[in-house]
Amino acid sequence: MSAFGFHPVQKPKHKRNKPTAKQRGLISKDVYAAAMERSGGRCERCGKAGELQCAHLLRRWQIEGETMVNDVAMLCGPSVNSGTCHHYVDYTKEGKQWGYDFRERLYGR
Ligand SMILES: [Zn+2]
Repeated sequence: MSAFGFHPVQKPKHKRNKPTAKQRGLISKDVYAAAMERSGGRCERCGKAGELQCAHLLRRWQIEGETMVNDVAMLCGPSVNSGTCHHYVDYTKEGKQWGYDFRERLYGR
């Protein structure tokens, strides 16, 4: 037959173009800096100055592509302490809703 009869074995293709939830949730230095600047060094929910943490306003798996500055807020923390805004947003239903609303406002500007 012809030379075209030879088919080298193809390696299986791993289609993994989509970043993982973890990768999507990464907050870059630039995003962090922009969020910090926007916050003016104060918690973006209660206005308290102090220990601020960059909190996701969406669950990581809901983020499309990479985390942008409008997907995060500088909130007082630490998130493990109840009573802080980071805890509120991460662990309470109302806080989760607040995060969505805040994000909508950021994108609406
Ligand atoms: Zn706060």
